[in-house]
Amino acid sequence: MRILVQKFGGTSVATEHARERVIEKIVNAKKEYDAIIVVVSAMGRKGFPYSTDTLLDLIGKESNLSPREIDMLISCGEIISSVVISNLLLNCNVKACALTGGNAGIITDDNYNRANIINIDTNKLLSFIEEGYIPVIAGFQGVSTNGHITTIGRGGSDTTAVLLGEALGATSIEIYTDVDGIMTADPKVCSSAKIINEISYNEVFQMADSGAKVIHPSAVEIARRAGIPLYIRNTFNETSGTNITGYNMLIKRNIKDKLITSIAHRKDRTQFTVEGHIDDKLFFEELAYHDVSIDIINIFPKKRVFTIDSDKKSIVLKILNNYETDTSFIDNCCKVTVIGEKMTGVPGVMARIIKSLNEVGVEILQTADSLATIACLIYEEDLEKSVIALHKEFELE
Ligand code: ADP
Ligand code: MG
Repeated sequence: MRILVQKFGGTSVATEHARERVIEKIVNAKKEYDAIIVVVSAMGRKGFPYSTDTLLDLIGKESNLSPREIDMLISCGEIISSVVISNLLLNCNVKACALTGGNAGIITDDNYNRANIINIDTNKLLSFIEEGYIPVIAGFQGVSTNGHITTIGRGGSDTTAVLLGEALGATSIEIYTDVDGIMTADPKVCSSAKIINEISYNEVFQMADSGAKVIHPSAVEIARRAGIPLYIRNTFNETSGTNITGYNMLIKRNIKDKLITSIAHRKDRTQFTVEGHIDDKLFFEELAYHDVSIDIINIFPKKRVFTIDSDKKSIVLKILNNYETDTSFIDNCCKVTVIGEKMTGVPGVMARIIKSLNEVGVEILQTADSLATIACLIYEEDLEKSVIALHKEFELE
C-alpha cells in the first residue's frame, strides 16, 4: 500500500485562503496514493487567535499551572486545526476524520512540555485507513502511558509526521510550509537565498540543528533512520520543492554539491566569560542538571567562554553566585553557521569566513567547528550583513 504523510505548518492553516490550498494539496495527492495521513500544526504564529503563543498568553508568564496543565492548554491549537481541516474535507465530500495525537495512537512518556514519543499504536490509524478515511491528526502531541495529554516541544509536528510515516511504512512524507523548500539561507534574512532541489539528510540535519527552522532536526533524523524521502514544499504554489534523501542517492544521480551548501543562524544567544579557579566538572554538571545546554564552549586554564540560549541566562547567573569568579556576559548574540558535508579536511574555509566577515566589519566573538560545520558567534545586529557576506563568499547566490 502506498501511503503519503502530508504535514501542514502554522502558516499553511492560518487563513481561509491557505486552508483552501491545503485541501487542494490533499485532494490532489489522494489521486496518486492508496492512503493519505494529514498532520496539522496550530493556526498561524504569535498574534493569531488559536496559535500556541496566543494560547500561552491566556495564562501569562507567571502562571502556577503544572507542566501537565500547560500541555492541556497548548495541545488545543493543533486539535482545532485538525477539526477545521477535517470539516473542509468533508464539505468537499472527502471522507476525513479529526484525531488528537492520543486518538492516533501516539504514546509518550510524561515529560510534559517536551515529551518523547515512545510508541505508536498504528492499529487505530490502520482501521481508519481501511475504512477509507483520511485521518487529520493534531501534531505536536500525544498521550502519556497514564492517559494525560502531552506535547513534544516546539516544531514537534514535523516529528509527529515523520514518526507516523515511519510507523506506517509511508512511501514519502511531505512537509508543507510558507517557503519554496530548503534554501541556501533563511530567505527572511538573505533575499538572494536560492532553493536547493536535492540535499542529503545529513546536511539538512546540520542546518536544522544550527537553527534553520524550516524543519525540526529530529524529524530529519527519523526520516534518515527510516530511509523515507522527505519533501519540503510550499503550500501556496506548485513548485517541486526540496527532496531530502541519502547522500549515496545524490552521488548516484551525480548531483554535485558545492563545498558549502548553506548558511544557517540561531538568534537569542548569550556569551559568558567566567574567570577564576573553579571546579569545572562541578560547574558544568550543575549547568546540565539545570537543563542549560551549552552551545559553543572554549576552556582555558583559568577561563571558560561559553554560549547558551538567552532564556537560560538567569539560571546561569544564579549558579555562578555560588562560585567565586569574575563573570561577564554579552547579550543579544547570534550564531551563524556555514554548512557543507564536503568541507571536511578542506583547508582555507575558516580563512574565507574570517576574511569575508572582516570585510563587512563584523566582529567574531567565538567560533566552533565540526566535520560539516563552522559556526561564528556575532552580535545580533550584524546578522544580516554576515549571512549575506558568507552567502556571497561561498557562491550560493
Ligand atoms: P511552519 O509553521 O510551516 O512549520 P516554520 O516557521 O517552522 O514554518 O519554518 C519555515 C520558515 O523557516 C520559513 O518561513 C523561513 O523563514 C525559515 N527558514 C530558516 N532557514 C531556512 C532555510 N534554509 N530554508 C528555508 N526556510 C528557512
Ligand atoms: Mg516548523
